[in-house]
Amino acid sequence: MSDTKSGFSLERRSLDLRFRTVALADREWLSPGYVRVRLRGSDLEGFDSPGCDDHMRLFFPSGPVESVEQMRAAPSREYTPLAWGDDWLDVEFAVHGDAGVGAPWAATAPLGSSIGVGGPRGSAVLSGSPESWLLVGDETAIPAIRRFARMIPSGVPARIVVETFSAGRELDIDAPVEVEWLHRGDAAEGSALIAFLDGLTAADSVGDDPFVFIAAEQSVVRPGRALLGRWGVCGGNAVVKGYWKRGEAEYHAPH
Ligand SMILES: Cc1cc2nc3c(=O)[nH]c(=O)nc-3n(C[C@H](O)[C@H](O)[C@H](O)COP(=O)(O)OP(=O)(O)OC[C@H]3O[C@@H](n4cnc5c(N)ncnc54)[C@H](O)[C@@H]3O)c2cc1C
Repeated sequence: MSDTKSGFSLERRSLDLRFRTVALADREWLSPGYVRVRLRGSDLEGFDSPGCDDHMRLFFPSGPVESVEQMRAAPSREYTPLAWGDDWLDVEFAVHGDAGVGAPWAATAPLGSSIGVGGPRGSAVLSGSPESWLLVGDETAIPAIRRFARMIPSGVPARIVVETFSAGRELDIDAPVEVEWLHRGDAAEGSALIAFLDGLTAADSVGDDPFVFIAAEQSVVRPGRALLGRWGVCGGNAVVKGYWKRGEAEYHAPH
């Protein structure tokens, strides 16, 4: 399958880069390791995220800040805008323990805490109609998977496969097909997804002209790309990305 024959494409768009200062307004635990937060502030006027797997940079200052420069000096990490309105923005965090900046902030920051939002500054917008879909990820990719899943017309062949720790960590994801949950248990993060991807042969394609999205711990990238090769999917029309890397803080995924 080549780009030219495909009934869809990923169109790159650049957006005006803006920095916004907002506050933590609400927190809802969706599972013991997963929290949705609502950020609120008038700075969010005009916020937009046209691509389902867009990322923005969230800045986590240790207290109130007085300037954009101060905010930009705070530690930052990448997150997916889940949903937003004129003065609110919802973000979901995989809470992976006490390490890091973003996850502990999401789990414990007092309501009212300041947070900076930078971007998104670019989008890959899916335009056209894939004839089939494969969405694969770990907890960090659930927000992007939720957004892509909303675009799948009912009746179109699709598989959505998500790795989490165990049965009690599964979440509700609105989708026209049943989400398949894989449990890694005490094995390395990504290992259940890698076994799944390696097990898909050329004959297991989800359907014709598939849109493939794979994002999780960085070790899924190689088996993800190998799958694109087996299925004849053009890399420019798919997303295969490491969203974080074991043992590395503030991992920067290659864009
Ligand atoms: C395009 C993109 C979109 C993303 N969207 C989201 C999102 O919407 N929600 C979300 O939760 N994450 C998302 N991520 C992943 C997130 O940026 C990373 O998990 C980030 O490292 C978290 O920062 P931290 O401060 O919590 O941990 P860090 O300070 O970066 O890392 C501290 C330690 O924790 C480890 N670690 C980091 N993440 C995890 C994890 N998930 N599980 C286990 N160990 C981990 C690191 O390897 C390191 O050893 C996205 C990443 C990218 C590239």
